[in-house]
Amino acid sequence: MQNTNLMPQMSMTINQDHMPMNPVNVSTNPVTVQTAINPMPNMQHQQSFSVPPTLQKANFSSPIIGFNPQTTANQTCKSPIDNLQPTYPEMNVAPNMQNYNHLSMGNVQRIDDPLRILDLINTTNVWETGGDNFDETAMVTINGSISSLEPGIIQSTLRVIPESDKILQKTRLPFGIAVSPFKDTRVLKTSKSGIIRCGACRTYLNPFVKIERRFKWKCNICFRLNSIPKTRDNYTMEENDEHVLVFLERPELRHSTMQFVAPDSYCHRTFNCSIMAFVFDISKIAKNQRYLEVACRQLSTRISNMDSNLKDNFLITFVLVDEFIHLFKFTIGQPKPKEYIISDIDDPFIPFPSGFAIALDKFETQILDFLDLLPTMFESNSSDSNCLGSALSLVKQLIQVFGGRVTIFQTSLPNVGQGALSARHKKDLTREQLLLVANDYYKEMSLTCTDLLIGFDLFAIGECYKDLSTLACLPKYSNGQLYQYASMGENNFEGDFCRYLNRELGIDGLLKIRFTAGLGIDTFYSNCFVKTPDSVNMPIVSPDSGFAVKMFIEESLDDIDRVAIQVALLYTASNGSRKVRVHTVCLPVSNDPLRIIKSFDIVPAVVLLANMSVDKMNQGNSLEDCRDALFNAATDGLGAYHLLNCNQTKGHLLAPNSGIKLLPIYVFGLLKHLCFDDNRKLKNVDKVVGGCQYLTNYSQELTIFQVCPLLKRIDDVLKTTKGLKDLTLPELMKDRLPLFSASLNTADIYFLDNGLNYYILVNQLACNDVISDFFDVSSFDRIEDLVVYKEIETSKSKLLSEYIKTLNKRREKYNKLIVVKCYDNEVPYCMYKYFIEDKADFKLNYIEFVETIKNRITSN
Ligand SMILES: [Zn+2]
Repeated sequence: MQNTNLMPQMSMTINQDHMPMNPVNVSTNPVTVQTAINPMPNMQHQQSFSVPPTLQKANFSSPIIGFNPQTTANQTCKSPIDNLQPTYPEMNVAPNMQNYNHLSMGNVQRIDDPLRILDLINTTNVWETGGDNFDETAMVTINGSISSLEPGIIQSTLRVIPESDKILQKTRLPFGIAVSPFKDTRVLKTSKSGIIRCGACRTYLNPFVKIERRFKWKCNICFRLNSIPKTRDNYTMEENDEHVLVFLERPELRHSTMQFVAPDSYCHRTFNCSIMAFVFDISKIAKNQRYLEVACRQLSTRISNMDSNLKDNFLITFVLVDEFIHLFKFTIGQPKPKEYIISDIDDPFIPFPSGFAIALDKFETQILDFLDLLPTMFESNSSDSNCLGSALSLVKQLIQVFGGRVTIFQTSLPNVGQGALSARHKKDLTREQLLLVANDYYKEMSLTCTDLLIGFDLFAIGECYKDLSTLACLPKYSNGQLYQYASMGENNFEGDFCRYLNRELGIDGLLKIRFTAGLGIDTFYSNCFVKTPDSVNMPIVSPDSGFAVKMFIEESLDDIDRVAIQVALLYTASNGSRKVRVHTVCLPVSNDPLRIIKSFDIVPAVVLLANMSVDKMNQGNSLEDCRDALFNAATDGLGAYHLLNCNQTKGHLLAPNSGIKLLPIYVFGLLKHLCFDDNRKLKNVDKVVGGCQYLTNYSQELTIFQVCPLLKRIDDVLKTTKGLKDLTLPELMKDRLPLFSASLNTADIYFLDNGLNYYILVNQLACNDVISDFFDVSSFDRIEDLVVYKEIETSKSKLLSEYIKTLNKRREKYNKLIVVKCYDNEVPYCMYKYFIEDKADFKLNYIEFVETIKNRITSN
């Protein structure tokens, strides 16, 4: 039988292009329980559940650069603190932690206390049991204040770090972080007063360092003692004290997120300008999609509204693609550009050295006129071929001197020229085969361009097969993003493209992760090119992209009480200035597996699991293996908790009333997600590729709602309109309803948010008064089904529109609100897939799934 455990298999995948594959061994010691139960309909083969296998770590060399953890981890981290050092409170252990400690003795059953322990078998609505109830006090800073990162920037799956790999294995939980390093923040402090870094490991000064021996600050990554910078040598004693007090006022000692204006030494090249290349598919299929009109309109608006200072920093070029490549040469004094058609698509070259990439400020009028004409220029085009590969080769030649961003609009299969692809979906290939890349052309293009500071974003429009499995390599290796739209019309393309053009953007980025000696990075996931084991090249730095990092514990942390993880992003802002954005998170260390399990943070864990599973699938593993691995992830965490509470009563599946209680439902949601659904009727693999990109390459909030959509009564939604911008994710989820059809059993109107779409669901039972609050009609029958919601002149309708508007601003995705009518208390067919807790297509419902987990864990 194949090993279907997610954790060991995933740990083999660090930067596969550049790192050797390391074998991972699974001990033969675990207690193995064989079961004949089919937990999921697709799992036809007998499976084993191993509790808890002792995993040996992958034999990675230390990814920590610049020092040896063995020589630093044991340094004086517990030495007496100088009298200047503020007093640190003892690590707070929440009151209910104490209760877990006695549970670990195995003699108490507290299933009657739902505040602390839940029986998941008897919890039909797990959402109403509250949030994850993690109430340990945040870490105090050097100044004695509480400092925490804004949610969603760096979140660890474990908010209490195991002191050793042995303890981590006892919890059987995935360990890693979800990171969105350039996420829009509410407050961003920018310092121009110089950058202070550790002399050994180059960690940036942060709120969690310590002052020792009066005039030294101790790095919380490598524990080196660094001198506090002085402006002159001979201070008196009083001046020394004052000097340290001034140092303690530095903003980076008060804020977990800081931005610095980087000095010249951080600029490895002089910024001249950046090029925006737009590659438009103009084949016959593209004409039918009619996307050009929308794209050109949005682009014109953006150029017209752009700050005139910024226009100096950008060049723009247009490349149109059908069976040939169409370039446009602009000349000063001539109102229209001259078109050049490159017909040698096997070896394309630029006919003239200049005039194709032009300055926004000098050619603004001509560019705007061109964008006006472009949508109708190729209306009679009958070409059904597309040579995208050749066109990108030409784009590379055009922009490689300065680097920049290539935005590709693709509606058809690139079937001619370099990197030509075939209609594989018509061949007798399996889903797994179709998900593999057809050739390496686009991957190599992406990797080469990443080195040239060129990144790709891909807008895939329409249902036509494009072989996205292969084309997705373009954004994947250049830190770009893939956007997918089934068709034009009532979709979200215009709003998404508007945000795409207007969001804050950086270029030439380098991201580096540092962490306290003893921790290690296993694998980076998502759209990034891993330069060294702990750093990522980012030609495009977008606030919308996120990624996941699987971590491990390399050395025992038993002599320290806290660890730090620091993410530093060096980038060039659109105004040309070089900046560094630094985020630091500090987490306590513990040897208590129950405290660690209680600290499990489900949101980053879902992001990490989704990334690991997509990565596993992209490597050619079968869908069944990916699904089994997900199922194992749910059973492992709860199985470990079961083992630590060995006297659990049979028939129950106990879980602490914390993040881990949501592990089964989110895994269930992943198993029903488009990417992992075992519906073999699904022929359109492009949809799966798009689904995988949306699931893994965006913010945590977007991922979470794609896995388990948010369903609420409309009145509960409207209550949160005010302040929605600043609501935390748990606050946003308050009052959510379970995702089964019985939730719709009142005369009410509901709101469903699946991250990529919003729906207003109107129950047939809804009374006419309620209906007229939101619709310009007096009865259910007269409401138009499956259309975009239109605001009317009532206070509730206006509030709802405001909610949608704010939600779209809060996120990296612009969604419209679609009206859906529900007849006879039934969920309409088009919405079945979002009501994941229901039984559907002869598959298990959520409670049956939990039952299966329980059987797997307890059937010994
Ligand atoms: Zn250091």
